[in-house]
Amino acid sequence: MIEPAMSAEPPSNNALNLTIEDELLRDTHPAFWNEWQWQVKNRITTLEQIKPLIKLTHEEEEGIQRSGGRLAMAITPYFFSLIDKEDPDCPIRKQSIPLIDEFRIENCDMVDPCGEDNHSPVTGLVHRYPDRVLLLVTDSCAMYCRYCTRRRMVGDEHPPMSIESFEEAFKYIKSKRTIRDVLISGGDPLMLKTEHLEYYLQKLHSISHLDIIRIGTRVPVTLPMRVDDGLIAMLKKYHPVYMSIHFTHPKEITPEVTAACSMLADAGVPLGSQTVLLKGINDRPATMKRLVQKLLSIRVRPYYLYQCDLAVGTGHFRTPVSAGINIIEKLRGHTTGYAVPTFVVDAPGGGGKIPVGPTYLISQAKGKVTLRNYEGKIFEYFEPQ
Ligand SMILES: *Cc1c(COP(=O)(O)O)cnc(C)c1O
Ligand code: SF4
Repeated sequence: MIEPAMSAEPPSNNALNLTIEDELLRDTHPAFWNEWQWQVKNRITTLEQIKPLIKLTHEEEEGIQRSGGRLAMAITPYFFSLIDKEDPDCPIRKQSIPLIDEFRIENCDMVDPCGEDNHSPVTGLVHRYPDRVLLLVTDSCAMYCRYCTRRRMVGDEHPPMSIESFEEAFKYIKSKRTIRDVLISGGDPLMLKTEHLEYYLQKLHSISHLDIIRIGTRVPVTLPMRVDDGLIAMLKKYHPVYMSIHFTHPKEITPEVTAACSMLADAGVPLGSQTVLLKGINDRPATMKRLVQKLLSIRVRPYYLYQCDLAVGTGHFRTPVSAGINIIEKLRGHTTGYAVPTFVVDAPGGGGKIPVGPTYLISQAKGKVTLRNYEGKIFEYFEPQ
């Protein structure tokens, strides 16, 4: 029943003798553009492929040459088409094309920044919080984000979690009645074939003490055509299914992504977003405001904004924590409450997500608290004595 995610032979474009360059240089996209398997098969992964498509900087060329194995470069033609070829600072480009900076290791860099491996009772399962677990089912993604926190394990494109490993994880979850929520992530679970993902969902759905299943994914953004009728019909069978979608920049919200989110929302899947705060990509308050407001308009509720983890080789993406706090300060009260995510630092070494934000409680005295509002005005609230 289970086959490796990549084993399906995607429709080949050889029949039309089209190369990826032909496809990308066309004004209108051809027949296979909307086939997600075609997009995966034709990802841009080598220097030879990318060179004719974009004028690389020296730092990019060296970065591509040195990257490989774990977190190799891989960009779907769809996502690549969003790059502004004239702009070396294009936010889509900076997340997807490696730079030589990735090979600069800083003292604080960590291989497993969130201490996931230390909280793993069985292979592929992270049990960090009392009532929920994280299940890592594959190491493959549609596009490899250069700032990935799981770069220690993502991007080798091994076959997904074996049936034996899944059975072990399944037994663990089934035996722990305190677990009521399973978050399926990776890599990206939507890289699996629908039937394969269904196998996991159907098994988990049969556990009576589970209240919800969640899927953490970036595929609706980097490979929106993956959200097809088959996937939607399947997900609907296993409600309540929640989805956390990894968004980075307002430029990612295209008509294709809007259509994918609308199919998911219509199927009754509550959608949340997760965003990593990244220097030079989305660290301006105005950029983040546009992102969260656009997310609401496509029925995605901003959920978490993450401080960039201390993963090896991601130093050039990190901002001070104060940058995130300042962004929340500029959102809270200034725009729809639904648009304001929780800013968190995932504690290095494995303490979990710690929320941080602006301080609105100025002082606490007996029977009285002093508060400030989003405009900086001071107010007093009198407590019961
Ligand atoms: C983020 C995370 C979860 C889910 O956390 P929520 O705050 O419930 O979204 C669960 N387990 C691990 C290990 C995580 O990193
Ligand atoms: S989608 Fe997630 S797991 Fe995959 S490369 Fe990006 S950040 Fe890493």
